[in-house]
Amino acid sequence: MVEIVGKRFIESAIKRILFVEPQSGYSTGFNDTVRVETLGPEYLAGSVKDVAECRLVDLRTPGADLRTAMAEFQPQLVALKCGYTTDVPVVADLAREVKQLDPHVPIVVGGHHISLSPEDLFIPEVDGIAYGEAEDIFPLIVRELGAGRSLANVPYMYYRDADGTFKTTVVPRPIANVVLHNSHEMNRRPLPLRELCDPYRDHYYFLYYRRPYSIETARGCRYRCSFCSVWQFHHGVYKVEGWERTFEEIMRIPDGSYVNIVDDLAIQVMPHEDYRQSDAWKLAQALIQSGNRRRFWMQCRADNIVRNKELYAAWAEAGLDMVLIGLESDDPAELKRVNKGSRVNVNEEAINFLHSLKVKIWGAQIVFADWLHDRFDRLIEYNKRLNIECPQFTIHTPLPGTVDWKKYYDQLITTERRYFDFLHPVLPTALPIREFIERYVQLYRECHMSRHELMELVRAGRVTLQGVIEFAKKFRNLTDPETYRSAIELHERVIPKLA
Ligand code: SF4
Repeated sequence: MVEIVGKRFIESAIKRILFVEPQSGYSTGFNDTVRVETLGPEYLAGSVKDVAECRLVDLRTPGADLRTAMAEFQPQLVALKCGYTTDVPVVADLAREVKQLDPHVPIVVGGHHISLSPEDLFIPEVDGIAYGEAEDIFPLIVRELGAGRSLANVPYMYYRDADGTFKTTVVPRPIANVVLHNSHEMNRRPLPLRELCDPYRDHYYFLYYRRPYSIETARGCRYRCSFCSVWQFHHGVYKVEGWERTFEEIMRIPDGSYVNIVDDLAIQVMPHEDYRQSDAWKLAQALIQSGNRRRFWMQCRADNIVRNKELYAAWAEAGLDMVLIGLESDDPAELKRVNKGSRVNVNEEAINFLHSLKVKIWGAQIVFADWLHDRFDRLIEYNKRLNIECPQFTIHTPLPGTVDWKKYYDQLITTERRYFDFLHPVLPTALPIREFIERYVQLYRECHMSRHELMELVRAGRVTLQGVIEFAKKFRNLTDPETYRSAIELHERVIPKLA
């Protein structure tokens, strides 16, 4: 982050800002079963709430419509989010639509994907692209555009100049190896303006849980998985906000809610650190003492769980419901191939330990394009043996901005962004594509929680019947052959030309 002194006192002629959460035209795999509060725009809105009125149009929700939002609100600035690679064509279309509705309104774009691949939206309709975390620079963007100036004076921007070309103020930063607890940068972030998402909250769900909330307690990662862009986006830094601030934020969320902790790596304690000194431990203790009834979902590494069992036991007592573990593979050679830095036996120990605490597992696993039938068979056996409640199978997808992007670039059968959704193999498959997809679908059919197991959760009062029914509808998408039709067509069109 850049340090900008006095940002709270910024004045601007811009008094109405519309944030747009796109409906991606393409699914991003298992993410279809999750639609949660979008924290990025809420933090940005929090940074300018004293200067301008902010609204969100969440195009993922039924009835939300850009044209109506523009007509009713008459924004003086539109901020589009481009978080996923698959969002690129959707956001480009949205930018064109905004400019058709109002040719004079400036458009800025931000988000994870576009920070790492900004040239994807160097189009005439876009005025600026914010690089990286943008809470600090967003007030400056509002000030400069409000004064009718270009974004040439705002740090960490790609901006369209008077001659129509894109220029940048981004200064390259090396990858560091830094862990920051009680981080100043994290603590001085504005509070997220939750009013932005509140009108849509009835349409949010997290698997079978309704009306979830999102919080963020940490950013970045110190590990270096080859398929992951998180450490590139955060330049190798892992930073955690002070537990008191997180605690206060959680206390503002209605008791009994389901809380999705969005950190890519939550409650991480590095190997040389004592978990009892960590913010994660102090936060868990405070939650227990408060009598908290909220339940939490978070993403963690298996080695962190195994090293810090008492920490996770405390979190289970504080309301931990489910943990996403990036298992990636049950094969040591594949763990090495993606530079996971963890081991198969550690993954299994972490799963068994969390199960002993009655914490459910969302097991994220990679399906490689070079797999043959026996490899799919082994993975099915592995998931059944470990009783992973929510297995997630992502087809190995080298995303722009990752080590794998460079490593596999020459083998990609397409670079069209809409196919980078983890459901389309973008590398040639060893099996014929139809067989590969059949086996992929079978993973979900055979490994996911049965109807009986889901009903057990309902009977235990942990989820509602309505939540389970709606989840089952969304989940069906993953086992519907129609979902993969475009993947098959892509391969059958491209592969013969490569032969
Ligand atoms: S996959 Fe997880 S552990 Fe690996 S670099 Fe990304 S955030 Fe870190």
